[in-house]
Amino acid sequence: MNRPLRVAIVGSGPSGFYAAEALLKQKDVALSVDMFDRLPTPYGLVRGGVAPDHQKIKAVIAVYDRVASMPNFRFFGNVKLGRDIQVSDLRAHYDQLVYAVGAETDRHLGIPGEDLPGNHSATEFVGWYNGHPDHREHQFDLSQESVAVVGIGNVAMDVTRILAEDPERLKGTDIAAHALEALRRSRVKTIYLLGRRGPAQAAFSPAEIQEIGSLSEADLVIDPRDLQLDAASREDLSDPEAKKNVDYLQSRAVRGEGSRAKKIRLRFCVSPAEVLAQNGRTAALKLEKNKLVADPKGGVKAVGTGEFETIPVGLVFRSVGYRGIPIPGVPFDDKAGKIPNDGGRVLLPTKAAVPGEYVVGWAKRGPSGLIGTNRADSVATVKAMLEDAAAGKVTSASVNAAEDAVPSLLRERRVDFVSFSDWKVIDGAELARGKAAGKIREKFTRVGEMLAALKSAAGRVSV
Ligand code: NAP
Repeated sequence: MNRPLRVAIVGSGPSGFYAAEALLKQKDVALSVDMFDRLPTPYGLVRGGVAPDHQKIKAVIAVYDRVASMPNFRFFGNVKLGRDIQVSDLRAHYDQLVYAVGAETDRHLGIPGEDLPGNHSATEFVGWYNGHPDHREHQFDLSQESVAVVGIGNVAMDVTRILAEDPERLKGTDIAAHALEALRRSRVKTIYLLGRRGPAQAAFSPAEIQEIGSLSEADLVIDPRDLQLDAASREDLSDPEAKKNVDYLQSRAVRGEGSRAKKIRLRFCVSPAEVLAQNGRTAALKLEKNKLVADPKGGVKAVGTGEFETIPVGLVFRSVGYRGIPIPGVPFDDKAGKIPNDGGRVLLPTKAAVPGEYVVGWAKRGPSGLIGTNRADSVATVKAMLEDAAAGKVTSASVNAAEDAVPSLLRERRVDFVSFSDWKVIDGAELARGKAAGKIREKFTRVGEMLAALKSAAGRVSV
């Protein structure tokens, strides 16, 4: 090919940026990268998922900004695949496509009452306190004193911390103003954290549960009887993280109820069976006690015992994992909630690879792993891309590779796209708003506000 390879990356979260980095850093192939995001803002879950009291984790943004400043990188924000641009358009303008679309929705419990008012997904709550435009308008009835968080992964820890934390400790962060205001009025006192398996199988990281145990306003309360391990669970302690968790939980359980105003009641081996209503809204959660049995697939699984109890809760947050959503025209494994692939090469149901199409991050492997996990994962996909390009497995002959072809197409369609330098203007406006409010940043929480901020700044420059 006598022109640079043209690559489109759909999604600007960690996996997308790590793919861009791996592509742009290599020296052997001339290429250019265009990154698309449906929002005017980049960084995916680093902006919309990482909790406001975990600012250090957001330091990775500096790495992504360096990638964005590399030659041959362009950002097209506010461009939604399926609305503003189609997969067929991308296929017509790029040699290779990378889906870095994450896992945008959440899994359900599949129990009666789950749709009652007062039931929410962790995804909604996280998006809401982080000012994600999709979740701006949600209302959470924080006048309830007792709430349940179902699932005990790190997202559940984030949700619990934000519910239990003293809001004054969040006020200087980039938490969305509407969320801070609502949390200040919150009457939540008891948070039940519900794990369906035992302490040795908990999905939270040691650092995350220890943070829960260190909150200024809440006691982490655990019944020591819940920490008695069966033989299979004792085997699970060969995992150092599981051992650390169990040791920590044991050290906490002996402290009893404590004296802080709020209580986080961590329970094990219970599964929600039904959300019970009063006056048409969530009033209680019926739980089934589980026992742990060997799973033929490995490890242990929870099986209901037929023994039930009811806990009074006015809000239920399910935090049982994220799930991908299909992109029209792109293969999707509905059961696993991700794009079927072989080492990042997108696969058809026939198992044949779709030429020139790749996947990274949660869309590739499912919603697991920390931000850094995505680096090696994206590097592996990029390796496959470069191998395929070297082997001529791209459909370049039919590609319209003119540099202005895509921006022209978007302009023709009147898509108000946002470049990376445009984003930096929005970024600057958010930082300035933050400074005025005594916060790190005051996010714009509606797409219209972001675009208006950009236009008003541009207006000022031209004056
Ligand atoms: P996760 O780690 O997979 O945890 C999901 C939890 O939901 C598990 O406790 C799981 O229990 C439980 N669960 C699943 N289905 C259930 C059901 N039907 N009923 C009851 N419980 C059920 O997922 P996540 O918390 O959404 O986190 C996603 C990824 O992001 C993880 O890799 C996490 O570490 C990462 N993350 C990291 C941070 C951080 O480092 N601060 C913050 C947020 C997210 P089982 O174990 O029994 O399946």
